[in-house]
Amino acid sequence: MSILKFITKLLNIKGYRVVSFSFLDWYRELWLEVKPHKNGARCPICDRRGKIVHKLEQPRIWRDIPVCGKKVFLVYRPREIKCKKHGRIQENIPWAARHARVTYRFEYSLLIYCSTMTQKAAAGLLKISTSTLSDMLHRTITRVRQGHKIRGLTHIGIDEISYCKGRKFATIVYDLKRSKVLWVGQGKGRETIDRFFVNELSKYQRKQIIAACCDMSRTYIGAIEHW
Ligand SMILES: [Zn+2]
Repeated sequence: MSILKFITKLLNIKGYRVVSFSFLDWYRELWLEVKPHKNGARCPICDRRGKIVHKLEQPRIWRDIPVCGKKVFLVYRPREIKCKKHGRIQENIPWAARHARVTYRFEYSLLIYCSTMTQKAAAGLLKISTSTLSDMLHRTITRVRQGHKIRGLTHIGIDEISYCKGRKFATIVYDLKRSKVLWVGQGKGRETIDRFFVNELSKYQRKQIIAACCDMSRTYIGAIEHW
C-alpha cells in the first residue's frame, strides 16, 4: 500500500483521496491536500447534482482531530456549482458544515469532551486555545439546535438546577422515554416552564403528553395541569 493510499484510508472520507501531505511547524502540523475521486458535485442545501462552473483560486482549510499529538489540517479547493434551485453555490463538503472551519469529527469530539471535562482540558486535548474552543462550542450548539425538533413526546420530566454557586437557576425538560434533554430555560418557576409549553410545543403536542414527572412544587404541577 502506498503512503498516500494509507493516509486516505486513515482519513476515511468517502469519495475523497489524499493527493499530497506535508509536515509544517517542525513536524507539529500535518497538512493533507484532498481531492474527490469523481467529478460530480452536489448542492449543500438540496443535495442535487449540479454542473461545476468555477473552482476557487484559494484553497479552504479545515481543522481535523489531532492524530498522534499532531494538528491535522485538510486543504481543498471547493468548486462552485450551478444548482437548478439555488443558483451558483459552493459545492457540498461532506466532512464539514457550511462555513465551518473545522470538520464534523472535530465538532463531535468537542461536544463529547466538553460534556465530561472542563473547557480548558478539552482545549488542551484538541490543541486549540480556550477562547477558540468556547466560540466554537457556542456556534456548534446553535447550529445543531437549529435542526432540533421535538417529536413523539409522551412522557416528560421537569426539574431545575442551580449554577453560579446557587445564584442562578435553569429549568430542564426531559423526554423520559428517550432519556433526552429537550429544553433548557434560564430561570425557574411558572413563567419559565410556561415558556416551554407555549414556544416549544404545539397544541397537538401538548395533548399527546400522557405522563409527567416533577418534584412536589406547586409551580410545576400547576403548569402541567394547566397545559
Ligand atoms: Zn440546490
